[in-house]
Amino acid sequence: MIYETAPAKINLTLDTLFKRDDGFHEVEMIMTTIDLNDRLSFELRKDQNIVVDVEQSYVPSDSKNLAYKAAELMKKNYNLKQGVTITIDKNIPVSAGLAGGSTDAAATMRGMNRLYKLNRPLEELCELGIQIGTDIPFCIYGKTAFCKGKGELIRFMNRPPSAWAVVAKPDLGISSPDIFRKLDLTQTHEVYTKACETALDTGDYELLCNSLSNRLEPVSGKMYTEIYKIKENMLKNGADGAVMSGSGPAVYGLTQKERQAKHVYNAVNGCCNEVYVVRLLG
Ligand code: ATP
Repeated sequence: MIYETAPAKINLTLDTLFKRDDGFHEVEMIMTTIDLNDRLSFELRKDQNIVVDVEQSYVPSDSKNLAYKAAELMKKNYNLKQGVTITIDKNIPVSAGLAGGSTDAAATMRGMNRLYKLNRPLEELCELGIQIGTDIPFCIYGKTAFCKGKGELIRFMNRPPSAWAVVAKPDLGISSPDIFRKLDLTQTHEVYTKACETALDTGDYELLCNSLSNRLEPVSGKMYTEIYKIKENMLKNGADGAVMSGSGPAVYGLTQKERQAKHVYNAVNGCCNEVYVVRLLG
């Protein structure tokens, strides 16, 4: 049996530059991982099947599961005959903007690389992974990175200064393609990519908090006002910076002290079912 930890990601920044000929948006995002993890185990089977075992009924366990898709891709690409049972212990909120499915897919590729003793470099897994999801290359490495293109052009950056993140997911699921469809590129919204890069280069916590920004926040925030309410609540109750992650609806606030994080937690816990106090990993 092989085990893999699959951490959630948050966007420190997310900018969309233009719509490409292939229909995807050209993005610029700075992302990092947080200590909120799914745990996956992998076991060889006697037959050739891929079996995904996940307790939560709202997560697909058939070929729609991104871990299944990743396993199928690995089997086909490396001509693997023997099947695999993938068990997912799901903790990351689903359809939240925290890359829950992508991180499971990435963990599946890393896990199968070990289970079948393939010894393929991570760069090769990234080239494969982009076929099933734009966040998968980042999730294969985790860490902190500047991602461009569709999300596959990765430049590693310093990990963020030590901080707590209070992550709140209102009780609604958002479909990323839907938000990208609604995005109007003629409407401007400031994204502080350069400032965020400087903050990470110099380990400047205050600048990092001031540079948190997301081009999709006004799009999702207009549809679901809870997003702005949570953000304001976090800032009013001691978060040093707060922003929506990905296409939302998860919002996080940063603090340096645990006590301050608990204060923010208490402030938003009443209006959200899912709230977590976690460390930034990076
Ligand atoms: P991203 O931040 O990459 O846009 P997300 O956090 O918004 O992702 P996910 O949690 O990955 O969204 O879920 C998006 C969709 O993927 C849901 O409809 C869910 O049913 C489906 N899905 C497929 N595989 C998984 C998985 N392993 N875990 C969670 N959701 C999955």
